[in-house]
Parts: sequence; structure tokens; C-alpha cells
Amino acid sequence: MPCSKCQYQAVISLQHGNLCKNHFIGYFEDKVFKTINKYQLIDRNEKLCVAVSGGKDSLTVLYLTKKYLEKNSISVSNNLVALAVDEGINNYREHTLVDLKKFCTEHKVPLTIVSFQEELGKTLDQAYPIINKDTNKRPCNVCGVWRRYLLNKHAKKLGVDKVITGHNLDDEAQAIIMNIFKANTTLAARLGPISGVHEHDLFIQRVKPLYFCAEKEVRLYALLKNFQIKFSECPYSKEGYRHHIQEMLNDFEHKYKGTKQGIVNSFLATLPLLQNHEKQAPQAIQQCSKCQEASNKDICNACAMKETIQNA
Ligand code: SF4
Ligand code: ZN
Ligand code: ZN
Repeated sequence: MPCSKCQYQAVISLQHGNLCKNHFIGYFEDKVFKTINKYQLIDRNEKLCVAVSGGKDSLTVLYLTKKYLEKNSISVSNNLVALAVDEGINNYREHTLVDLKKFCTEHKVPLTIVSFQEELGKTLDQAYPIINKDTNKRPCNVCGVWRRYLLNKHAKKLGVDKVITGHNLDDEAQAIIMNIFKANTTLAARLGPISGVHEHDLFIQRVKPLYFCAEKEVRLYALLKNFQIKFSECPYSKEGYRHHIQEMLNDFEHKYKGTKQGIVNSFLATLPLLQNHEKQAPQAIQQCSKCQEASNKDICNACAMKETIQNA
């Protein structure tokens, strides 16, 4: 099939037409830069940290953040760093970290790697069975709590103003539906291109430039740009609630094109109402009595899990 804009062979078929390699790359980059501008995700005086794992989403967002800074004559060396969390997932994370280190060296972005093992005393592989025995939590529940905790803690240490993440349209559509199914309006209000409702000194704001990019578009972009990555999947990824939502949405998208975009667009239309509602509620953020990080209880979830492991 030919490209809708020229006569070269198309590499992707989108709702508005087919695109060849060059037109797709232009369309994709334009969409990301427009998202950054429309939602003011990046301010020229801010120091930025990209949360990276070595996967296609994080390397794409790192590459395009750098490109955006260069395009806008903002100094990359003074404003951009990368931060990775090594969860300790055997036969998976060690491979993506190799790709990540190469990528950061090649693109001259300083990289910091922190690990569950060093910070919390156990790898995810070791910690998950212990926590699961006590609380029935799945690997992604444990991983998510510790990962967010370490990202926030170390982004503060790096002195950055914002954390940039590689969340894409599929991730967001899944998170919206998960929160609806679980009736969790508090968590739903924290979604959107800029995460969080309340600004707080203990939290670094997280922003998502790939917000409107479908997973298949990010995958294709990373392939066409020849990023040296393995496109592997975490061995735990099929165990969580999210995986069932992902399968359901993929099935719907296959049958009814535009489903994921529809979910995200209708969510964005109601997000201000949701956020206003949450702003009325008193802020329950305090400092964890163990680690002094942000918490809505006396002891934060990360410290509570760490305690479970130490007591096992
Ligand atoms: Fe962590 Fe789950 Fe993602 Fe694997 S799939 S890296 S366990 S959140
Ligand atoms: Zn073309
Ligand atoms: Zn704590």
C-alpha cells in the first residue's frame, strides 16, 4: 500500500491514512512535541530526569526529550539526566540495562542506576514470594510501589524539577479502565499527561510526552530509528490485573479501531472535574516516620513491605 502523502511504500496504516517511513517519523515526532507544548510538560529553565529502563518507550522518550531540548536551543548537558531502577528481575533487567548503558553513552546523557537490592535489601525476585505469602500481592504491585518510591527519592537527590516517563496511550487507557473497574477515583485523578493533583515538596512532578502515542507506534518508531534494544517482556508482565485489561482493550481495538484513543479522550474531558473534586479533599500527605519520604500513613508502603521482608 502506498503512503497517503507520497508514493513510497507505507509502513503503517493509521485512522487518517497510510504513512511511509519518513512521513511516519515526522508525524510521530510532531505529535510528541505538540503534546509537550500543549500541556507545557517542559519549561526551559527546568532540570529534567528521564525515568529509563532500556525498553522501547523509555529510550524513545529519552531520545525525543533530548531532540526537543536541542530544537529549542536548551542546553542538554545542563538540563538532562537519566535514572533507572534495577528491580532485580533475573534474565530480563540485566539485558535491558546493557542496552540502556550503551544508549546513554552514545547519546551522552548521564545515567544513574539504583537497585532494589541495594536500597531495600532484596531483589524483586527474592522479595515478591515473601510479600505474596503475607499479603497476596502480585509482583507488579510490589514492583510498582518500590519503583515509584526509588524514582521519586533519587530524582530529588539528583536535584531535578521533573521526571519524564515513557507512558504511552495504551498504558494510560489501561490505567483509566483499571481505576474505573476498581472505583478508584483518587488514583484516576492522578492520571493525565501531568501526574498528580496536589503539588508537594516531597513529590517530583511526573510528565508523559508519549501520552497520545499508541504502543504500536512507539514500537515502530524505535524499530525505524534502529534503537539497539531487544523488545523483550518482563517475565511477570502476564501475572497482573493490568494484563487482563490490556488483552481486553487489544481485543476491542482490533474489532473497533480507535477504542483506546476514545477512552483517553473522554477521560481527559472529565479530568478537570475529577481533579477539582480531589482538591476539595484534605491533603493527607505526611513524612514516613522511617524514611522521611512522602506517605499517607505513618509508615510508607515501601517501608511497610521492607519490614515484612525483614520479619519473614
Ligand atoms: Fe515490574 Fe510488573 Fe513491570 Fe515487570 S511488568 S517491570 S514486575 S511492574
Ligand atoms: Zn510518504
Ligand atoms: Zn518510608
